[in-house]
Amino acid sequence: MPSTHVIYEGLEKVSKNIEENEPAKPMLSYGNSKFINENQLKQSGKNYIILRLGSVYGYSHDNTRTDIMVNFFAKATSQNSTLRLFAGGRQIKSLVPLIDVARCFKFMEEREDISSQVFNLSKDTKTVKEVALICKTINPKVSIIETNNEIPNLGFSLSNKKLLNTGFKFLYNINQSLSEMIFKWSKQDLIKDLEFVKNGENEYVDTRGKISNHELTEPINLIGLINSKKGTIRANHYHPQQEQKCLFTKGQIIEIYKDILNPNSPKITQVVNEGQLSIIKPNVAHTMVFTKDTTFLNLVRGEREHDNYGITHTIKHLFVDEEEKNLLLECYKFDCRSCGNTNLKRVVSLGYQPLANNLLKKENEKCELYPLEMNYCDRCHNCQLSVAVNPKKMFSNYLYTSSTSKVFRDHFVKASKKYIKDFKLNKKKSYIIDIGSNDGVALKPFLDQGFKKILGIEPAKNLAKLANKNKIKTFNGFLNKKNIKNLKKNADLILASNVFAHSDKLNEMAECMFKLLSKKGTIVIEVQYLMNTLKDLTFDNIYHEHYNYWSLTSLVNFFNRLNGKIFRSEKVNTHGGSIRVYIKKDKKVKVEQSVKQMLKEEDKFGIKNFGTYKEFGEKVYKIRENVRKNIKKLKNNNNIIIGYGAPAKATTALNFFGISKEIDFIVEDNKLKHNKFIPGMKIPIKDKSKIKNKKNTLVVLAWNFYNDIKKNNSHLSESFINIKDLELSN
Ligand SMILES: [Zn+2]
Repeated sequence: MPSTHVIYEGLEKVSKNIEENEPAKPMLSYGNSKFINENQLKQSGKNYIILRLGSVYGYSHDNTRTDIMVNFFAKATSQNSTLRLFAGGRQIKSLVPLIDVARCFKFMEEREDISSQVFNLSKDTKTVKEVALICKTINPKVSIIETNNEIPNLGFSLSNKKLLNTGFKFLYNINQSLSEMIFKWSKQDLIKDLEFVKNGENEYVDTRGKISNHELTEPINLIGLINSKKGTIRANHYHPQQEQKCLFTKGQIIEIYKDILNPNSPKITQVVNEGQLSIIKPNVAHTMVFTKDTTFLNLVRGEREHDNYGITHTIKHLFVDEEEKNLLLECYKFDCRSCGNTNLKRVVSLGYQPLANNLLKKENEKCELYPLEMNYCDRCHNCQLSVAVNPKKMFSNYLYTSSTSKVFRDHFVKASKKYIKDFKLNKKKSYIIDIGSNDGVALKPFLDQGFKKILGIEPAKNLAKLANKNKIKTFNGFLNKKNIKNLKKNADLILASNVFAHSDKLNEMAECMFKLLSKKGTIVIEVQYLMNTLKDLTFDNIYHEHYNYWSLTSLVNFFNRLNGKIFRSEKVNTHGGSIRVYIKKDKKVKVEQSVKQMLKEEDKFGIKNFGTYKEFGEKVYKIRENVRKNIKKLKNNNNIIIGYGAPAKATTALNFFGISKEIDFIVEDNKLKHNKFIPGMKIPIKDKSKIKNKKNTLVVLAWNFYNDIKKNNSHLSESFINIKDLELSN
């Protein structure tokens, strides 16, 4: 019969090498029940062998008994994590590997000469600290933290002398077992997410229908069947101990969740569809917003009395209100904008964020927050945000005028000359359209070179007005089915620079472009290049105005569906790396080498592999950790930190990092931004004259202009730092 060392837990002093004849001193019910069992067995008159086990440890492919210290340390070590030693890890433990326990049972069963005996079954006696140090020698990346608290009892150990005298031999020791466990767990793809969502596995289909299976991480003892109506909300709570497992048999939800043990962690959203199982870890606040009439099974392990709701198993934590629920229902994007796939994967979550270019006029002005999260479609390799914010909220009055930047003006002058030459455009006859024409920056060079037939299409009223004033004919509105009736068709060249990232209704927009295009005409699209974002970790290119993130691979898939053909592609330098692609309606046009070459390059980089995107997400989280640490260090050494530049990317980055009070204020060249505040973080934006002396640290937020800013502003500060340098760990 298996018994336990716990029957000695009442010993008041530390005892080492307790032998079998030492009087037991059980304290809690578990030890007591074992001791009663031992006595009953002894008095039964039957043959018996009692094995008193030390702490049994060993590898399991799931989470079984990770509460055992050795198992827990091994698992944490496999993930390069931290081992915390309470009371300096001085407690002693008698340990035995599971496999030797099984072997010992077999050994005793076969030994007919041994009867009516009690044996301690324990291999090694170690302090908690000793176990941690073994882990560290196996994986030096693990860190150990000791705390200095008092503990009532430092533990005890069992002597295995009697057992060894029978001839039993242990096959494993703690060092070997730890190495093996750490190795196995480091190979295992551990799910670190707070929530993970799984489809059914091992499907079996025949004429009657389909069976799909969900393997659970632990046994359950209760199933709740729950119905919820479309548009309602549930949860807004967390479970201090229980893992939540819900199997959705009908409908769909948006789940919102947040780690409450880590106050700086972002609030994340995720879709769970019919047929999927969602698992949420303990101490993760969660809320379900029902987007359809939904039925799900709540699969529970442990107590779940309604009377104890709010006290033990479930604790209220209101973090999604009605207003936020409605906002999510209005703007959530469930399917791939390009191909319609509904099973999208999460690349990175940058938390809830304000609209990046909507600077606040007053510090305490209310501003809407939306999830800022990138998803990946593994069918067409498109990347898009989890929400599509109403464009009227972002583009109706736009502060960003392209022509203010000399870099952009030069870029478009050069481009116009190239197009005129490549497509033999004619000043009198050729008709050129620019979509999302801003203040006319791309059309102005054509106007200056004598082109008569040009048209801009621009939704921002202020920009369209400005362009028309400058003699660049501009239609004020979005390019859609309704507006196209008012537009002249048969264009020889259609330009669309940086609008392909900026539109939710891309299919409609692209169809309209083809309708405006002449038979032989060319469309030229310039868009921020996803490959650069992934390679350079420029996550701050992600903001709500950018609905979509393109690679050539995903653009080819997009245009194939619309019967257009990309025949040429180039890399260009704008916006931290963009691509320019050329498209014709004529399906017979020859695809040039540039396209084939770039597709090959993307393939090699892993653009079709979700792992590439996941790795990007993990690195971005590491950046956040580093910046927070480095800014804190700077703040401790200097009293004043001033930011330089308030572009949209600064809003994204500062909100993601959660940096606000650390930066005293931001200075900006664009006067329109003065006396406003960064939304979310509420950092004031001021004129440069507000810098009183050079004793400060200027952190350049507009990092792509770092060199120019440093060169032109040496009178403002003795110390310039590029925000990008704070992203490194040092
Ligand atoms: Zn897709």
